[in-house]
Order: sequence, then C-alpha cells, then structure tokens
Amino acid sequence: MGHESSSLIAIVVIGLVLAFVFGTIANRLRISPLVGYLLAGVAVGPFTPGFVADQALASQLAEIGVILLMFGVGLHFSLSDLLSVRRIVLPGATVQIIVSTMLGTGVARLLGWSTGVGIVFGLALSVASTVVLLRTLHDRRLIDSERGRIAVGWLVYQDLLTVIALVLLPPLSGLLRDGDPGTGGPDPGALALTLGFTLAKVAAFIALMLMVGRRVIPALLHYIAHTGSRELFRLAVLAVALGVAFVAAELFGVSFALGAFVAGMVLSESQLSQRAAEESLPLRDAFAVLFFVSVGMLFDPAVLVREPGPLAGTLLVVMLGAATAFLIVRVRGYPIGTALLIAAGLAQIGEFSFILADLGIGLGVLPPRARDLILGTSILSILVNPILFAALERFRTWIERREAGAVAPAAARETTQEELRPTLLTGHAVLIGYGRVGRLVGDTLKQDGWPLLVIEDAAEAIERLRAQGIEAIAGNAAEDPVLHAANLAQARLLLVAIPNAFEAGQIVQQARAANPALEIVARAHFDAEVDHLMQFGANRVIMGEREIAHAMLEHARALPERKISAEKTER
Ligand code: AMP
Repeated sequence: MGHESSSLIAIVVIGLVLAFVFGTIANRLRISPLVGYLLAGVAVGPFTPGFVADQALASQLAEIGVILLMFGVGLHFSLSDLLSVRRIVLPGATVQIIVSTMLGTGVARLLGWSTGVGIVFGLALSVASTVVLLRTLHDRRLIDSERGRIAVGWLVYQDLLTVIALVLLPPLSGLLRDGDPGTGGPDPGALALTLGFTLAKVAAFIALMLMVGRRVIPALLHYIAHTGSRELFRLAVLAVALGVAFVAAELFGVSFALGAFVAGMVLSESQLSQRAAEESLPLRDAFAVLFFVSVGMLFDPAVLVREPGPLAGTLLVVMLGAATAFLIVRVRGYPIGTALLIAAGLAQIGEFSFILADLGIGLGVLPPRARDLILGTSILSILVNPILFAALERFRTWIERREAGAVAPAAARETTQEELRPTLLTGHAVLIGYGRVGRLVGDTLKQDGWPLLVIEDAAEAIERLRAQGIEAIAGNAAEDPVLHAANLAQARLLLVAIPNAFEAGQIVQQARAANPALEIVARAHFDAEVDHLMQFGANRVIMGEREIAHAMLEHARALPERKISAEKTER
C-alpha cells in the first residue's frame, strides 16, 4: 500500500496527468484511450503500490463528468426525438432488463445467494454506463443518427428505471434479504405509495422543466449574453447544468444524470442557446476522463486471480443482456447495423451498477463480494468494449457477404460506424468547414459550377449541405482517414475555412504532402497563424481581422469628401 492522499488537487492533477500519459500510449498502440484512462486509475488506486488517491473524492468528480456529459447529450435531443424512439425503446429496454436480471439471478444462485439477493445483483448487471456508451457514439459520430437516438433513449429509460429501483430498494430490502414477506416485508399499500410518490416526483420535475424551465433558462442565458461577459455566460451554462441536476437529485429524487439531460433538452429548443451552451462545455471532457480514472481506481486486479469463474459468469450475463437487445432490435425490423450498435453499446456496465451495488450493500441485501464482482465485470466489460466493436464490425461484413443479394441494399450499407466513403470527384474544390465563412464560400463556388466537396464535423451543417445536394463528408478534417476520403491527390483547390490554426496546420501539411500542385487557401486570425500556415505549405492565408480592417477603411474612404469635412467642422 502506498501513501494515501485525500487532497482534491492531487487527484485532479495526478489523475489527469496519468490519464494523459496512458491515453497517449494507448493511442500510439492503436487501442482506445479509454483503456489508458482506466489503467491510469488502477495505477492511482489502492490496490497498486505508490500514490493512492481518495476514492470517494474521485467518484464525486466523476459524477460531475456524468452530469456535464448528459447535459451535452440533452442539448442535441428534443422531446420529439425521445418520443420518436419510444416504440422500440420501451419494450426493448424492458425485456432486456428483465432478461439480464434473470440471468444475473441465476449466477447469484450458483454463488449460493438467495433469489432476492440475486434480483438486486442481476439488476445491477442490467444497466449500461452512460459515459461509456456516449463516448462510443461520439467517437463514431453517431449521436445524431437514428441509431444514436435509439441508444440514448435506451439509456434514458434505463436511468429512469434505476431511479425507481433505488427508491424501491430500501422498503423492499427486508423481503429481498430474507425472501420471507412475513418478516419485515412491506405491505403492498405502502409500497404502492412509495412507487406512486417517486413517479409523481419525477413527473413533477419534468413538468416543471418543460413548463417553467423552458422559458426561464433560455431567457436567463439571453439576459446574461447581454452583459457581454463571456465568463459570466460560461458560468451561467455551468450553473444551469449543475444546478438543475443537483435540484433534480436533492428535491425530486431524480438522478443527477437524468436531471442534467432534461436541462440540456430544455435548452435544445432554442438554437442560439444550444450553440452557445455547447461552446461553454470544455470542462466536460476533462471530467469524463476523471470518470474513467475513478472506475479504474476501484478495481482490484487480484480479483481476476481470486474469482475467475464467477467473474466470467457475470461478464457473460452482461454480454447475453446485450445479445438480447440485439435480438429485440432485429425482431422489431431494424437493420443489422442498428441492432449491432445497440448491442455493442450496451455490452458494458458502469456507474449505475456501482450505485445500485453500494445501496444494496448498505442495506445489507448484497454481500460485499458482489461489489468486487460488479466492479471487476465493469472494468473488464469497458476494456473489452472497443474490441467488441471491432469484432462486430467484422461479423457484420461477414453476414452481409453471406446474405449478399438477400439483403436490401440500404440495409446492407448500414454500419456500426458512419462510413467514410471516398469521393469520386476529381479536379474538384475541397472546402473544410461550413460555418460563417465556409457557407458563403461554398454556396458561391457551387453556383460558379465547381465540383465541390465539403468536410464538416457539425451534424447540423452536414444536414444542411446534403439538403442542398452538396457532397459532404462528416468528420474532423484533421483526422487522417477523413482527409484521405477527399481525394486531395486529384483535387485542384483546397479552402481551409476553420478557425482553429492547429487543426488547420495539420490539414495543410497533409494536403501539401498528398498533392504538391494543389492550390491551398487557409483562414487565420493572428499574424503568427499566418506564418504557421504558410510554413506548412499554404499558397495564401487570409487573415480575417485584416480583411475586416480593409473593408472598414474602404468604406471610410468611399465616403463623399463633403461629408467628412462637414463632420470635421461640427467638432
Ligand atoms: P465558422 O467559424 O462560423 O466559420 O465555423 C467553422 C465551421 O467549421 C464550423 O461549422 C465547424 O463545425 C467546422 N469545423 C471546425 N473545425 C473542423 C474540423 N477540424 N473539421 C471539420 N469541420 C470543422
């Protein structure tokens, strides 16, 4: 055992630094950085020598990550999105949770625990981690797709059920522990009352947010925007996200995650506040990393040696639960790509499982050994998740090849990742970024008859591009494969219309390497950026601020002479 430190700063600093180091190593080895973050957590956890961080503090920090993440998801979700997936999510998630819980109960029985204990154990194994699933969807740029919406809806539903389970657990604990309704069993009336009260509180929270929050929160942000203080604005967004989540949890008994999700959803109604709020969430990624570090910290590697059998059993339960989800989604007629994505996304457990397990142990329903198994299963399932995704991708191709002809072409093209289809254009113009600058450039180029390809990473802009019939690639142009799909080697013109000079530099450098004859024009905001981009091989760099200055001067000079002298004499 190493030196124990309960200082908050030590956790944040050492956690983030180690996560950065391990994450970078993982990235170099071409594995998911999540694996690096988890291992960083194991390194600062109590089960490995050296520095030991305070677990309770770490998990609270992780909770902030969950809040900000769910708030961010809510920002991209409207009520109608949620309602549009209810037909698959409600029955699907219900059946999946029941099957997982039953399987988990089976494993518990094998371990010699009672059925009541087994139900709680199984329930903890049936709910997936929000953070892990969202990361996966985000990495694959799927949050805004139909598949992504189903997955998020599934998550929200699981979250709601967890909230209900958490309030029902205490009154039911006697029954679950002894399996005998006579001793300490609650009377059904009281139980119905507890359930009714909980549901009423959740409903009251949602109603309050939809009726009052929907007006008050955007109005508040507009008001703060008028103060002109960016700092205050970011603070306002943070205060709304954290404040609503906290109130939801403390006053209404709703979980932090669900509260934050609803707060984000309320803001998503106004495009202005949505965009603004989005820009103010840089903290989110840092806290999400701390989430993985804190999960890693809880893991005792010795459990792998001590309990390999039971651990394999619980892991199997999680996988079979995911397989159930696959079957349900397929049976409901969705393409195989959708079903695989949902299944792979659900094939892991995390924070909700820990919360359920903690409460169960606190109430004396679950034996402490259950926590070890749940934690072990969680870290293993999160570690395996990226590998599972890769394997399922192979499986899908194999299935499709086998069924070739039998599958409708549209379904065959469905993938678990938004596919990067290389463009067929040659002699074309590639425009990167379709924002304030790119939009003006793109629309005119198109009118001028250029063969045009746009790379853009905001889903909204992609939709707009496709609606206009402009060929578009969704993704971050600074990533190799994305840029590769643009066929720069045979392009004539590259216009880099994004504000971030680091990313722009990357892009220009790669483009120059791919095509020495390419005409490259880039955008900048500072003199240093102009030099940077020219160095990497841009033919021309336009600095926005200089152009604005020129336009202003031009306007001033174009004023009729009389007017200027009249103003002079007025002074
Ligand atoms: P604006 O500053 O209004 O011209 O917007 C810039 C646009 O570029 C936004 O729509 C961003 O989504 C987009 N963008 C920024 N960075 C990248 C990138 N690395 N790859 C693709 N699109 C980007």
